[in-house]
Amino acid sequence: MKLHEYQSKQIFARYGIPIPKGRVASTASEARQIAEELGGRVVVKSQVLVGGRGKAGGIRLAKSPKEAEEVATQILGMEIKGLPVRKVLVDPAANIDQEIYLGITNDRAARRPVLMASAAGGVDIEEVARTHPEKIIKVHIDPLLGLRDYQARDIAIGIDLPKEYWKQFIEICHGLWRAYVECDATLAEINPLVILKEKSLLAVDGKMLIDDNALFRHPDLAEMRDVDEEAPAETEARKYGLSFIKLDGNIGCMVNGAGLAMTTMDIVKLFGGEPANFLDIGGGASAEKVAAALRIILSDKNVKAILFNVFGGITRCDEVAKGILAAMAEVQPNIPMVVRLVGTNAEEGRRLLADAKMITAETLADAARKAVAAAQA
Ligand code: GDP
Ligand code: MN
Repeated sequence: MKLHEYQSKQIFARYGIPIPKGRVASTASEARQIAEELGGRVVVKSQVLVGGRGKAGGIRLAKSPKEAEEVATQILGMEIKGLPVRKVLVDPAANIDQEIYLGITNDRAARRPVLMASAAGGVDIEEVARTHPEKIIKVHIDPLLGLRDYQARDIAIGIDLPKEYWKQFIEICHGLWRAYVECDATLAEINPLVILKEKSLLAVDGKMLIDDNALFRHPDLAEMRDVDEEAPAETEARKYGLSFIKLDGNIGCMVNGAGLAMTTMDIVKLFGGEPANFLDIGGGASAEKVAAALRIILSDKNVKAILFNVFGGITRCDEVAKGILAAMAEVQPNIPMVVRLVGTNAEEGRRLLADAKMITAETLADAARKAVAAAQA
């Protein structure tokens, strides 16, 4: 789950990381009021769950409350990378001397969290990572020992941070590490962490990703979820307990079991196709759940064919077939569907689908081949 900048920074503040003392507004007049309270120059920042807001025009400085209201009006009317802006954060403008990147994420290959920093932080960090990877300093953290002082110091040295900032920088690194661990985050990032002209450090931007599988033990974080900013398909999938991830291909995949779903995607690729999604309807899926899954797949306009791959172990094939039929009646799709049903009550399931103009397949390879051909037709 992604958190907004203002939410991430509120969490950072709990861990002693210095943040600007701004507030969130959902109307332009509220933004003006906050600017009045803060006094002086402010920065008005779109709160959307994508990066690159600055480059998209979603971060604007304002010299007066009146100007804050004007830019807030503009920003609140924007869409950034397809996401509507519904809130803005109004922060006192920072006098920036230097922008530093500081982030923690999991390095799966190293099987450890990694703390990364760069003196070349700010909006071009992706470019820096691509063209000058040596400018990103990394240190792996032993999850049992936690972040050690010397590691944070090594990072400070690595990014040529002037010594007067070390103490504060090391405290910020520790705060970020604790926020990362205690929130079960998969990313905790400050970009930029700025050196102010006033000679101290300030976290001007913040981003956190929280592991969905850990949300059950963080009800306060779970409540921060902004469904308005999520892909509607993912919200819908979560409602029905489906594991769904949208991909870029054109063959919709409906499968029971995560391993089988991955295998299905691999086989689709093997036969020259591209899966449109990962979808696990889970064991013992009801007709209602299958119908929801079908609706979700069909909401993707790229989908040109659907491949059902169902192994009826716990899930009964006739239940799945009923779900498919119910969903077909409701959504009335006019794209080809290939079905491979094997296992408990498969015969019964196939009989139910026989009249529904579905292409049936005996083996997974056969099903994948037929789905790829159908999507290309
Ligand atoms: P992002 O583009 O989504 O990463 O949004 P950021 O919050 O990182 O803002 C983008 C850029 O806007 C930063 O890298 C800064 O250069 C600039 N910026 C953001 N806040 C301030 C501020 O308070 N004062 C000044 N001068 N620049 C700011
Ligand atoms: Mn940023």
